[in-house]
Amino acid sequence: MRSELFIDGKWTQAAAQRSFDVVNPATEEVIHKVAAGTAEDIDAAVSAARRAFDHDGWSKTSGAERGRYLRAIANGIRRRQTELARLEVIDNGKPFPEAEWDVGDAAGCFEFYASLAEQLDNQFEERLELPDARFTSKVVKEPVGVAGAIIPWNYPLLMAAWKAAPALAAGCTMVLKPSELTPLTALELAAIADEAGLPPGVLNVVTGLGSEAGQGLTEHPGVDKLAFTGSVPTGSKVMAAAARDIKRVSLELGGKSPFIVFEDADIEQAVEWIMFGIFWNQGQVCSATSRVLVQETLYPSLMARLTEETRKITIGNGLDEGVLLGPLVSEKQYQQVTSAVASAREAGATVVAGGKRPDSLTTGYYLEPTILTDVPLEIAAWTEEIFGPVVCIRPFGDEAEAIALANDSRFGLAAAVMSKDDGRAERVAASLRAGIVWINCSQPTFTEAPWGGYKQSGIGRELGRWGLENYLETKQITKYATDAPWGWYIKD
Ligand code: NAD
Repeated sequence: MRSELFIDGKWTQAAAQRSFDVVNPATEEVIHKVAAGTAEDIDAAVSAARRAFDHDGWSKTSGAERGRYLRAIANGIRRRQTELARLEVIDNGKPFPEAEWDVGDAAGCFEFYASLAEQLDNQFEERLELPDARFTSKVVKEPVGVAGAIIPWNYPLLMAAWKAAPALAAGCTMVLKPSELTPLTALELAAIADEAGLPPGVLNVVTGLGSEAGQGLTEHPGVDKLAFTGSVPTGSKVMAAAARDIKRVSLELGGKSPFIVFEDADIEQAVEWIMFGIFWNQGQVCSATSRVLVQETLYPSLMARLTEETRKITIGNGLDEGVLLGPLVSEKQYQQVTSAVASAREAGATVVAGGKRPDSLTTGYYLEPTILTDVPLEIAAWTEEIFGPVVCIRPFGDEAEAIALANDSRFGLAAAVMSKDDGRAERVAASLRAGIVWINCSQPTFTEAPWGGYKQSGIGRELGRWGLENYLETKQITKYATDAPWGWYIKD
């Protein structure tokens, strides 16, 4: 396990000589200490990224060349898939098969952007037909510059890939600040990039606290673009810092995503997608469908089956065989989620399943998968992101009521609808104010498709070609293509 910062192609101690603890959430043990970078280290990293962008030629490399580096990084990730997945489990707590899945997706993300980088060499150049034939004009795309990326702890390696792969593909250089709760795999990514021969300064990783390294990155004048994934309050700070010197900014923030299940849905399928939508990764998923709306005619039978299946979920250390639900990421997260459940109960909600630590697990930040009903619409459990394995379920009468309830949120990241009636499913999908809508499923995510939210869930889109656009500027080059005088004034 690595513990130093990766700046300008070298492993270095934090300038302040401080470190922070990395805790395994399944055992509550400190498993490692990692350098606590500060604004001083961020400055060194941004200087290296600036030099790599402005002087050392990364921004002028061909897309094909950048594609080769990205593929080499993808290969490095695949070669170390098991080791990386294991690190992710001891750092974040997620079950090993989910961690393996994330690592495969991270490699796939680098491969996807490798092909987009290759296409950049001959695409994205458009000639414009102007109404004045004396002019010719073309539009080109260029890298935005030095990107500062700040990521959360729920998908540590995958979130790093979602930022680094498109940024490097576009020709940007990057300073990446992983979450202080889960720094291990981002450091390994730096090592893999180094092994792949990535030039010094192109990808720098500075671990540290949000209030120190994170804030230092958002405020650094040498950064051209901030790409942030995390909570709404921090996103708001990032945006405010970006506003000071008009940095480009993209934000992927929280959600309280609805899942509408109509009476004609298959109960067994609905049960599986509802559980997957809120219990995978312990519900610590920005797009988790945490508000489930079930048509009242189906409600009693669906609730019976959902409760039965939820109680069967195997909870434990993510490294153990057969575990579907691991611990929450940290003690703080455990306290936040359990207090959200306690407040909901006090406000009149019914805990139908879970709501407590499993009796057999006295160590680790474990919470049983939890189902809440009778949740008043105005309380935080219904309106705010809980970010844990806690689902709120409510019956609805007709389609109009379901849509109104679903859209009644300050968030708009994702939404799901389940019905055998295609016309209805499509109609409802069109009415949902969210950046991602799933029909007859919840959560499947593809590197090819745009990811991001409406309303307070963020600004901009990651993934697909939209993710690359995040790191590109648009330039017009317009030429006066005649020798004839312009004629602004008449010469004597
Ligand atoms: P967070 O906002 O607490 O932290 C995110 C990152 O920001 C961390 O690296 C942290 O160190 C850093 N940070 C904290 N304060 C900062 C500051 N003042 N300046 C700069 N950086 C600072 O979020 P979290 O608890 O790590 O993650 C959970 C949140 O992330 C949830 O709200 C979740 O919905 C959201 N999320 C969104 C997506 C998405 O794609 N929309 C994906 C994953 C997580």
